[in-house]
Amino acid sequence: MVDNCLFCRIVAGEIPATVVHETQNTLAFRDIAPKAPVHVLVITKDHHADVAAVAAADPALAGEVLGSAAEVARAEGLGERGYRLMFNSGPDSGQEVAHVHAHVLGGRPLGPMLC
Ligand code: IMP
Repeated sequence: MVDNCLFCRIVAGEIPATVVHETQNTLAFRDIAPKAPVHVLVITKDHHADVAAVAAADPALAGEVLGSAAEVARAEGLGERGYRLMFNSGPDSGQEVAHVHAHVLGGRPLGPMLC
């Protein structure tokens, strides 16, 4: 756990979250400011700053995040219509929380990616 990391504090149960899926090493919960009807964040329970960091440190765990995201999408009923899976990484992406998280977005047509 990293001091003052919001998502580490959610893992520790210090900050409430609406958890929708959990594995031994990942946690998925609803985004507090959803940008789509379904907006779930999938994180690693251990702290990694971003997707590049977890892919370098623990490729199997990076894969587990993808598997959890796919399971969340299936459970949220997005399997047929599809969904967007997105990682912000680093300052130019606008990443606000420096703890790796996949955004699972869906439930309406999302349109083209905005840059
Ligand atoms: P980022 O910009 O990719 O780092 O995304 C961070 C996301 O975390 C944003 O979509 C926020 O709405 C979301 N967020 C911030 N605080 C909380 C919280 O306490 N619970 C759930 N989601 C949060």
